[in-house]
Amino acid sequence: MSKLNINEIKNSLALDLQLYIEIIKDEYKNFIPKERLEFLNSIKDFKDIIIIKNMGTISMFVRGNNIYFPASANKIINQMKFIPGFGINKHHKCFTKDTLIINDNTFIDYIKHVFIAGLSTKQFYLETLLHETMHFCGVGGSGALREGIAELKTRELAYKYNFTTSGCGYPKEIKIAIELQNIFGQTLMNKIAFAKNDYEITNIIRDNFGPSGANLYIKISRLMEKEFQDKYYKYKFPGITGPLKKAKKYNQLDYSEVYTVLYNYRQNDLEVMVKDNEKLPTNKDYLLKVKEALLSVDEDYQINQKKK
Ligand SMILES: [Zn+2]
Repeated sequence: MSKLNINEIKNSLALDLQLYIEIIKDEYKNFIPKERLEFLNSIKDFKDIIIIKNMGTISMFVRGNNIYFPASANKIINQMKFIPGFGINKHHKCFTKDTLIINDNTFIDYIKHVFIAGLSTKQFYLETLLHETMHFCGVGGSGALREGIAELKTRELAYKYNFTTSGCGYPKEIKIAIELQNIFGQTLMNKIAFAKNDYEITNIIRDNFGPSGANLYIKISRLMEKEFQDKYYKYKFPGITGPLKKAKKYNQLDYSEVYTVLYNYRQNDLEVMVKDNEKLPTNKDYLLKVKEALLSVDEDYQINQKKK
């Protein structure tokens, strides 16, 4: 990639980055850690945040106060251009607005998309920029479950503001994040997304869902991490077919044990609710008890009673 080219891409990405940060600051003002917010407010030149360099991978990531973009993506896309069919449908998408958040895309679908739509290097970077900007603003990404949550928050924001995103990131992990959001609710999941570490996360959950809720998170997080590391993350495949090989590895990830844990948690939840219901007094008893309780704190009433 020529220096001129890199500069042009950086300028373009910096504009999107600035817009995304403004929106994220507004949308998640109650959740972004204070120190991170202060840093975000102190950024003078958004171009300085963006680093494009060779990293032996086509992944994008955040380190410290920078977002890294792989220069090697340009090489791979340039090689793809010689394969017939590249860019055959410039408007190709992996989702409609209705299927942006919940879909069955895989990493292989995404590679196909890059090819069919004939993405430029800049477009390729842009489709992941929002996800990386979420990390940059404080959304955790250490581990499979947190990446799933980061991708869920990314797609929710893309949905609301019609921002560009791949709709294919962490396809299996996001499904578990959605399941957790169904249990914990959106506000708590926003808090979890911006939490610094597992210690903070377990405290947040414990305050709202007790130890069983916190245990659920830790259990799921560990199960996912083991599967993710063993079957996928540790593998490195160089060259133009590398991404495809890695995507095939990803397809072997099996989180069925996680779904069993989620299912059991829901069952227990239901049982507790039924038990509590059984303990509730009948309607008439209940009302009488409420009346007694109210009267017992009503001094005027008690004084009147004594007078009688
Ligand atoms: Zn991420």
